[in-house]
Order: sequence, then C-alpha cells, then structure tokens
Amino acid sequence: MDDDAPDWTATNGPPRTPDDVTAENPYTLPGFFDALADGVLLGVRCSACDTRLIPPRPACYACGSRDLEIERQPDTGTVISYTEVARPPPRFVDLAPFTVAIVELGTGARLTGRLEAAYEETEIGMGVRVTVRGPDELPDAALSHEEDWPLHVFEPV
Ligand SMILES: [Zn+2]
Repeated sequence: MDDDAPDWTATNGPPRTPDDVTAENPYTLPGFFDALADGVLLGVRCSACDTRLIPPRPACYACGSRDLEIERQPDTGTVISYTEVARPPPRFVDLAPFTVAIVELGTGARLTGRLEAAYEETEIGMGVRVTVRGPDELPDAALSHEEDWPLHVFEPV
C-alpha cells in the first residue's frame, strides 16, 4: 500500500444528499475502486445488524439502516464455496475455464471473485489472499467506465 494514499476510512458517513455523492466518496463505486487501486479493500459494517457489505453502499441491504461505517477489510480469508466457470462473459473468455470462489474474510464479510487455482485443486476451507490487478493486467473492459477500474483476484496461500 502507498503510504501517501488517503485515509479511505475517514468519512462523515454515507451520502445523505445528492451533493454528497462524489467520485471520491468511498461509499460510491468510483471511491471503492480508487481505494482498491491503492490495495485497500473497503466494506461497510452496519451498526444496526452487523452485516458487512462489499462494495460499500449507502444503505444496508439486510435491514435498510443507513447507520453504516466504512471498514477496511482484511486481505486474507477462506474459501466457503466455489465453482468452475467454463463459459464466462466475453471479457474473460481467454481465461476459461477458471475457478470462482466465495471467500469469507476475517470480518465475516463475503466476497466473490476469480481464484487463481485449478478447480480440481480448490477445497472448502482453503486459505486465500486478496490481490489486486490493475486495468493493464486485465482483459479489455466491455464498458468504458470499467476501463480504469482494478479487479480483485484470490490467490492461494
Ligand atoms: Zn443492517
């Protein structure tokens, strides 16, 4: 992580008016991806029901509360479910077949992503690390607004 990176967790809370919805706000997707480009995986913790949401959202999808705080997520977790994708979306067709896993992080947050391990070598409970691939390391994006966005990838540990 870049030591000069902003403190992504220093916010005044979720956006409450349209003027609060800026690209720098970590509760928005551009803010989430800016932090991810710096190697920081952001989620939010709902103070009302303790659910974690990745990426952050301005309201909890479990209980509707807006009492959410930005929480940096750990970069390690364990595989809780996985499958093999043989027919991916066009952007990732050259990578097929590949493994997609649901990973539970140390906070209890769950994150889905591509796992850089063969399906046959993947197991429930396997430890993984969350790594970040920059746009130049990824296949070309289908949507122009995705071209500058990094993507997380799980690596076995
Ligand atoms: Zn909630």
